[in-house]
Amino acid sequence: MCGIVGYVGKRKALPILLNSLKALEYRGYDSSGIAYIKDNKINIIKKEGKIKNLEKFLNVDEDTFIGIGHTRWATHGVPNETNAHPHRVGKITLVHNGIIENYEELRSKLKKDGYKFVSETDTEVVSAQVDSIYKKNNDMIKTLDEVKDILEGTYALGIICDDDPNNIYAIRKDSPLIIGKKDDEYFIASDVPAILTYTKDYYLLEKDEVAVLNNKVTFYLNNKEIEKELKSFEGDASSVSKCGYEHFMMKEMMEEPDVLHKTVEKMKQEKFSLKKYKSIDIIACGSAYHTGLVGKYLIENYADIKVDVHIASEYRYSKLFKKDKNLVIVISQSGETADTLAALKLAKDNNMDTLGIVNVKESSIARNADFVIYTEAGPEIAVATTKAYLSQVTTLSMLALKTALDKKLITKNKYDEVIKEFNVGALKIEKLLHYDYSKIANYIKDKNDLFYLGRGLDYALAMEGSLKLKEISYLHSEAYASGELKHGTISLIEEGTPVISVMVDNNIISKSISNNKEVKSRGGYVICITNSEIPKDSYDEVITVPNINDFVNPILALIPMQMISYYVAKARGCDIDKPKNLAKSVTVE
Ligand code: GLU
Repeated sequence: MCGIVGYVGKRKALPILLNSLKALEYRGYDSSGIAYIKDNKINIIKKEGKIKNLEKFLNVDEDTFIGIGHTRWATHGVPNETNAHPHRVGKITLVHNGIIENYEELRSKLKKDGYKFVSETDTEVVSAQVDSIYKKNNDMIKTLDEVKDILEGTYALGIICDDDPNNIYAIRKDSPLIIGKKDDEYFIASDVPAILTYTKDYYLLEKDEVAVLNNKVTFYLNNKEIEKELKSFEGDASSVSKCGYEHFMMKEMMEEPDVLHKTVEKMKQEKFSLKKYKSIDIIACGSAYHTGLVGKYLIENYADIKVDVHIASEYRYSKLFKKDKNLVIVISQSGETADTLAALKLAKDNNMDTLGIVNVKESSIARNADFVIYTEAGPEIAVATTKAYLSQVTTLSMLALKTALDKKLITKNKYDEVIKEFNVGALKIEKLLHYDYSKIANYIKDKNDLFYLGRGLDYALAMEGSLKLKEISYLHSEAYASGELKHGTISLIEEGTPVISVMVDNNIISKSISNNKEVKSRGGYVICITNSEIPKDSYDEVITVPNINDFVNPILALIPMQMISYYVAKARGCDIDKPKNLAKSVTVE
């Protein structure tokens, strides 16, 4: 979601702040702003829309060596210049990621104390709140320690106080924030990739901790100084650059064979087993929820454990049933997804065993779950997930496979065979990545609606294919269970309506063939993604994927769906890596 950056050091601050903000663009935002100190005075520049709008109003040569910056993803108030961050009240200027839930109550109280507000945001209330406490005690550390007991909701804050023009203050609750270090220069950022051009070394700010940055960094918790461990990021700047590809999404799809290989190798060594559990709840949002649906199929059929898959935002407010020997698995690329994190906390409060499957090391979910398995996708920048989704699916497939072996439901020979076939799968992905999708993409690009169909496992895949398409191409698409078609959707099929039918679950392909014929006879244009021979009169276009085994087949079917989405979005001129209104890491409820 939104991005926070900050810099204090001997170099000119504005180019660094701009560069770091640009590195956070992928998270999604609708306005941006920077505050910097020059000649002991604060300057604030903020603009609606993309960072380039802001850039035009900045003199990057300005003699300033300290500043904070922000890309806002509006939650309270429209995305305009007034609502953009930084927000300044009294002596306090700050940037904020998150949502303050009690901001209305706080605003009323602060108004009675004489504060006036110009924006509609919850963030401006935070600035006033900090200012009002600071006025009384003149001590920023004490102030922030008090503020944390007053603010309800989620936040990470980067703050400059007029009285300390050489300091940046930072504090966080649920939203992530790291402190970067390069000799005696210091940075704040929502994630490490934002500052990778400058440094790999960082401190992870934990809940309620306060950091004070100048030519050193000092950390406090509950008003007392604490020591923190300096960490080093594993990737390098090339892992967050496009490496010659037009879009991050394409680069990330091209990495999928490698990600598959790495994930399988890692999972071969993984000690965690599902063996002792009688049931599993998988909880996630968006594509990660679809991962769970594929996982359900494999875990139920191979490891013989009942699996329920839940949308995190629903799970957290539904009745919780205590089950014996139950495991809760939460899945999130960023490890910061607010609803998934809340569901995890709920499960933990109810003494359930929890496993986090996340991509970002040391993220909140990774640190809160009882067990964690990291997906081997590397940094994923495009908002629409591709390689991280593939790695999540592979992780669950490997858990199913290993548990089946542990429970002696499959032989060691079968296990070894599937492992080998994963490697064959990686080669096959390579081929599917280079297939010519242009004819299909051109057919779809000017349509208004599309349907994705599938049964069982194929339905889970269809849901992901459909989401990927609408996320980046803004073309309306709906995934339907093939058998449900006759119960409503078929009335929407018109002459030429594109229908993508996923058919890689060998047990039920014959049923899907009949459904495709029903669609065709009503004028639908049927595009099949299948690993079987199917009758010529049941489709208009076919993409043949290899038939390897139940563990690898879902991954192979995924590639054409991702590629079709990419090429349709490209043909429609969409901003593929940063689709409108979407954010990479959804840190608000
Ligand atoms: N809730 C704040 C706002 O709407 C911050 C949103 C964000 O995280 O960007 O301004």
